[in-house]
Amino acid sequence: MNHMICLRCDCEEFDIKEDAVFKQTYREENLIVHTPGVVCRKCGWQTIGNNQLDALIAATKKEYEKVTREA
Ligand SMILES: [Zn+2]
Repeated sequence: MNHMICLRCDCEEFDIKEDAVFKQTYREENLIVHTPGVVCRKCGWQTIGNNQLDALIAATKKEYEKVTREA
């Protein structure tokens, strides 16, 4: 979690959030993706940690498959 800075308040301390929720657009589908993320300790701004990007991509593709299968 090194070298991360909150884009809202410039705080550099984040907590890991196991079930963070992100809006992602993948192949023109708007998806709500649950994946681990980090939250700013000061203002609660939520983002993805440097080592969490792969998990976000995997979760996004999984959600896309789920949504398109149901459609
Ligand atoms: Zn912040």
